[in-house]
Amino acid sequence: MRQKLLSRLSRYDLAVERMGFSVASPVIPNAYYDVKLNKVFIHVGYIQLPFFTPSVPDYVNYAGLGHTVGHELMHAFGIKARGYDHDGIERNWWSNDSATKYDNKMDCFIEQYNGYGVDGRRTLEENMADNVGLVLAYNAYKKKLSKHPDYAEPALPGLEKFTLDQMFFITATSQSCAIDPLTGVNPDSPYTPEKLRIFGPLQNMKELSVAFNCSEDSKMNPKNRCSVW
Ligand SMILES: [Zn+2]
Repeated sequence: MRQKLLSRLSRYDLAVERMGFSVASPVIPNAYYDVKLNKVFIHVGYIQLPFFTPSVPDYVNYAGLGHTVGHELMHAFGIKARGYDHDGIERNWWSNDSATKYDNKMDCFIEQYNGYGVDGRRTLEENMADNVGLVLAYNAYKKKLSKHPDYAEPALPGLEKFTLDQMFFITATSQSCAIDPLTGVNPDSPYTPEKLRIFGPLQNMKELSVAFNCSEDSKMNPKNRCSVW
């Protein structure tokens, strides 16, 4: 602890190393956004199953690593980072109109997650990133498919009956597998329990209800949805 503190203090008046890579160990599976550097870090330890591997269908990689990349990118537009510009300098660069519209959209997420029985305000930053991250990953996957119309995505053994869209969403849920997805979460955590980390984003995606043909106003096809874009 003392050594860590001394190491930090020794860097105190040095210029920020903008192209540096200041992680403790890149092999630890982790990903994060650094607001001061305006950079997303994906550790090499993260680039493996269940998030990414070249030998599986693309929907696995987009729903896995793609979702994480989208999540981290969205932190750049999160409630904390919005007050920093592209150089990581604290500065208000949003118009009043954008800020108001954004706040209204955040209110939607707060209300939605409060409705799940968690603190929607405390977990807002991560919920917003979970939600938009999945949308970005899905859109990127669809864009990739449309650019390669002749490419036949292979099916996973035993799951041949599902469409590609269905497989994208099924794979996305597998990232949040937990022994007991509703318990064991620190009450001060910025994250919701694992189940909600995927249930909320899926409920907000119209594409899911289309993919699974959910009836109007069913649980996964609600009338009101929250989104940022
Ligand atoms: Zn996050």
